[in-house]
Amino acid sequence: MSHAASTRVQEFIGDPFEKESPVSQEKLEEVFGDIQSDMRFDHELNGCLNCGICTATCPAAHYYDFSPREIVQLLWTENLDGIYDAMQEKIWACAQCYTCAARCPFGNSPGGLIMIMRETAIKHGMESAKNVLRPFSRVMLKLISTGNQLSPDMINPEHFADWGPNISKVDAPLKILRKAIPMATLNTTETAWEVNLKTSVELYTIWEETGVLDQLETVDENLFDVILDIMDEKREDWADWQEEQDDDD
Ligand code: SF4
Ligand code: SF4
Repeated sequence: MSHAASTRVQEFIGDPFEKESPVSQEKLEEVFGDIQSDMRFDHELNGCLNCGICTATCPAAHYYDFSPREIVQLLWTENLDGIYDAMQEKIWACAQCYTCAARCPFGNSPGGLIMIMRETAIKHGMESAKNVLRPFSRVMLKLISTGNQLSPDMINPEHFADWGPNISKVDAPLKILRKAIPMATLNTTETAWEVNLKTSVELYTIWEETGVLDQLETVDENLFDVILDIMDEKREDWADWQEEQDDDD
């Protein structure tokens, strides 16, 4: 629809009728369909008074151009364009603290709805998801290869320069300190705790069966390939170990 003359207000805020969606109506419906069909959706969204209590208590809204009230309203009114648009940036501002869920008089969970939207953004390989997750590839690699996200030896002045002088408080003789911990699985500095081969292989099956690896492939194909190699290697090690046990019997 075109408008020959626009008002001063339209010039300032833009004309919503003029704005063309970057994707087709079918795509918008498909994305919303995926959000709506998530088994958590009806539990997290019961209606919306548009009261703004969620936004008033949201720490992310304090610092960013972000409002959980706005996101919930988009979902409640089924504003497909707005939902798609919010998925290009805004949904990634949420800190997932769930203060909003504790305060909403309708029992909604804006943070939970945002989590569904994030997962849908990943499923659809949206650029926003790729950009947000890219810095976490090192964490993903660590997680898949060791079963741990962070190891004690990663907390050092080199890696946490932004901690300033406080980093000296954790700059300690880690190897000695870790050896003093009573649980043997924690006597390591390369991993937070030791994950044995059997557990690693079981985790791979869980990640495969729940679609986590498919999602990873969608957002970062290179990392996915590296991780597949690691998984193959560990599965072979596990099979060899089992064979050795059979031979010993
Ligand atoms: S989600 Fe809840 S708290 Fe937020 S605006 Fe709607 S009714 Fe109010
Ligand atoms: S879960 Fe997200 S939307 Fe809710 S209060 Fe926390 S940061 Fe805000």
